[in-house]
Amino acid sequence: MNKEGQSTLSIEKSLIPLPPAERSALLQNPGFGRAFSDHMVTIRYTEGRGWHDGKVEARANLPLDPSTMVLHYAQEIFEGLKAYRLPQGGAALFRPDANARRFRNSAVRLAMAPLPDELFLESVHALVSEDRDWIPEAEGSALYLRPFMVATEAALGVKPASEYLYCVIASPVGSYFKGGAAGVTLWVSENYIRAAPGGTGEAKCGGNYAASLAAQAEAIRQGCDQVVFLDAVERKYVEELGGMNVFFVFEDGSIQTPPLGGTILPGITRDSLIVLARDLGITVREEPYSIDQWRADAASGRLTEAFACGTAAVVTPIGKVKGSSFEATIGDGGAGPVTTKLKAALLDIQNGRAEDRHGWLQRVF
Ligand SMILES: *Cc1c(COP(=O)(O)O)cnc(C)c1O
Repeated sequence: MNKEGQSTLSIEKSLIPLPPAERSALLQNPGFGRAFSDHMVTIRYTEGRGWHDGKVEARANLPLDPSTMVLHYAQEIFEGLKAYRLPQGGAALFRPDANARRFRNSAVRLAMAPLPDELFLESVHALVSEDRDWIPEAEGSALYLRPFMVATEAALGVKPASEYLYCVIASPVGSYFKGGAAGVTLWVSENYIRAAPGGTGEAKCGGNYAASLAAQAEAIRQGCDQVVFLDAVERKYVEELGGMNVFFVFEDGSIQTPPLGGTILPGITRDSLIVLARDLGITVREEPYSIDQWRADAASGRLTEAFACGTAAVVTPIGKVKGSSFEATIGDGGAGPVTTKLKAALLDIQNGRAEDRHGWLQRVF
C-alpha cells in the first residue's frame, strides 16, 4: 500500500487459467496441498531500495541461480492461513493480522528483511480476491494460503542476504488427516528434539521442519501418525508436534497447554482456542506437562482427552501416545466432548456461522 492507501501490487492475469470444469473437479476432493490456484503474489526486496515490483501474476516456476543463498544456508520463513467461504456469500480470512506479525518476527529471527504488515495483508487479500473461484465450498475445506520468503542473493559467503523474494501461493484444501474423528497416535521421540532455548523454535521456518523429518519418519516406522517432541534441556516436558500445538483435557473439565517460552511455535489456533475456551467458562492453564505425568494421568483417567491444533490440522483428537517402553490410550481413543465443543466453536467462527466477537474475520469480498 502506498501513502494514498492504493495498492502497490500490479495485476497480471494468467493467460492460461485452469478451465472451469477442471477446476471444479479439483475442488471436489482437493486433498491437502496438491492442487494450486492460477495466480501467485511476488514482491522483491533489495537492500537500499526496499520492497519493490509487487505483483499478482500467473503461478509459474521461480528462476534461481544455483548459488542462490536460500539453497545453501536455508534463510527461509513461511506462514499458513486460510480463506473461508461465508454463508451469506463472499469470503473471509481468519486473523491474517496475527500471521503478518508472526511472519515479521520470524524474519527478524532469521536475519531477513521484515515485510511490513500492511504489505503482507494486501498480498493475501489480493490473491484470495483474484483466485476467489478456487475457494472450495464443502464443510471443512478452505483455500490455504502459503506466504513465504527466501534469500535470493546469488553468492556463497555466509551472511544475511541483501535480496529476498516474498511470494504467496494458494491451495484449495480438505482435511489434513484422513479418517475424521478417530484419534491420531503420537510417537514420543527419545532420539531427537525439535528446538532448543535460543534456537529457532518460535520462528516459522523451513529449517525447523527439515530438522523434524527424521523424527517424523521414526514415528511412522513405529506405526504412529505424528511425532511429539520433549524439551531439549530436561527431555521431560511435552512441547509440541512437528507442526501442531498440543492441548490436554482433564477430568475436572480444565484444559492445559505447554507455555510459550521460545521453543514452541506460537500457534494462532492455539491462541484462539485459549480465548474460546475461556469464553465457554473453561479453566485454561499454560503450564509445563511432563511425559511421565501424561502417562500417569492417562492410566488413572485424570486425563480424559488430548488434541493437536493448527491451521492445517484444525483440531485433531489424540487417541494414543507411544514411546519405546510404553503405550497409553487417552480416554476412549477418539474425540471427546471438550475437543468436539472447542473444534465446533472455532469452525463456527471461521465459517461465518457464529458471531465474531473478537473481530477475527477479515472479509475479502
Ligand atoms: C504453524 C505451526 C503451528 C500451528 O500454528 P497455527 O498458527 O495455529 O497454524 C504449530 N507448530 C508448528 C511447528 C508450526 O509450524
